[in-house]
Amino acid sequence: MRPEDSYDIIVVGAGPAGSTAAMYAAERGRSVLLVDRKKDLGVPLQCGGFLPHYETLEELVPRAELPFTLEEIPKSCIHTSTSYQRFIAPNGVSKGFHVNAHAIDRRRFDKHLAQMAAKAGAQLLIATNVTEVNGTELILDGAFGEYIVKAKVIIGADGPNSIVGKANNMIRSDDPMGTGTAFEYELSGVDVDKEAVEMYFGTEYVPGGYAWIISQGGDTANIGVGIREAMFEEHMGARDYLDRFLYEHPIASKKLEGASITSIVAGIVPVGGAPKVTATKDTIIAGDAAGHIIATNGGGISTAMVGGKIAAESASDHLDGKCDLMVYENRWREQMGLEIKTAVYVRKLMDKLMLSDKLMSTAIKMISSEHMKSIQCGQLPDVVRKSLLKMNLGLN
Ligand SMILES: Cc1cc2nc3c(=O)[nH]c(=O)nc-3n(C[C@H](O)[C@H](O)[C@H](O)COP(=O)(O)OP(=O)(O)OC[C@H]3O[C@@H](n4cnc5c(N)ncnc54)[C@H](O)[C@@H]3O)c2cc1C
Repeated sequence: MRPEDSYDIIVVGAGPAGSTAAMYAAERGRSVLLVDRKKDLGVPLQCGGFLPHYETLEELVPRAELPFTLEEIPKSCIHTSTSYQRFIAPNGVSKGFHVNAHAIDRRRFDKHLAQMAAKAGAQLLIATNVTEVNGTELILDGAFGEYIVKAKVIIGADGPNSIVGKANNMIRSDDPMGTGTAFEYELSGVDVDKEAVEMYFGTEYVPGGYAWIISQGGDTANIGVGIREAMFEEHMGARDYLDRFLYEHPIASKKLEGASITSIVAGIVPVGGAPKVTATKDTIIAGDAAGHIIATNGGGISTAMVGGKIAAESASDHLDGKCDLMVYENRWREQMGLEIKTAVYVRKLMDKLMLSDKLMSTAIKMISSEHMKSIQCGQLPDVVRKSLLKMNLGLN
């Protein structure tokens, strides 16, 4: 269906943040256009799909009001479920903790969330690129050619390179260490632990990050590296590191022997925290566009959805005349700002540890499983902070 000339709200990007925003805004009776440049939502895949269960998310971001769509995930969107997370230190020693999580199929989950938004009344427009943002007027280029649409409020949920954010000067810091590169393969023909998600550390394989193995059920798995270009060796790219991990890592290469690569996935992960400003009088950004990600693990599905929900509620309240749109800024920071900020701080600290395999192996040996879980979730228990201080990492 051809879009109208104007809407109450236009949401740019039908990923987890945008579809959640569109669904909640439409539920509030607003006219909503949800637009995405992809021809097939969720494709190409740019995600490992690791998503802790709802109860775990409640502990992770305790002040956040989680969208119900994080609890009611259709079985068809879940590859498999895991109950354990294992860290493998550079010296090969492993340690882990219990965590109940799904490995979700983002190709299906993104479509499901967009369908939920459409069911709530949002107009969904795919294969349509937003090429220009002029205030609340957008130039679209897609199935209906090039045309202009307007809205009272624009929600930019258009990922880490947000055109909406850039047009409104809401941009993340340009610190190269604040942007991660994630490169993944989907594999078949493997026999990996279906109950556990594994995370591997070591400067040779994953400078400034970690590699993961996530079972996708049966004989399939998703493996990847989340690393920082600023820490790459000369002449090495993200794919080179993943190949090195797959074929040469002393533990992983044995587990993955005989694997066939069925899909290649790459993307960027904004691990530098939120831009200083995420709202203007008529525009807000949410999800990766707003740095709504837990920097210690690169997980952003749930926080993007929380950001999307708050964006919709703030826009609807504003259009109901209840508040300024800028209320969004305080609302999301109250619900999950502390966790996002702490995770960036912990990530910076981990960066120092990750420079040395010896230090990283010592830290993994020293830190209890319980505390490891907290760190992974972007928290820094005081006892760990004190121990790390003793390691003279320049922490203050
Ligand atoms: C390789 C990789 C692995 C990851 N693994 C995990 C994981 O296991 N668990 C986890 O929680 N997180 C993971 N993440 C992070 C997670 O994928 C993101 O945090 C999450 O997708 C953010 O959702 P979003 O809706 O903000 O943005 P996105 O999912 O990026 O959606 C943005 C949408 O906007 C659209 N768009 C962009 N620009 C325009 C435009 N100009 N016009 C129209 N449409 C536009 C895009 O097509 C896209 O559909 C991973 C990221 C990467 C790159």
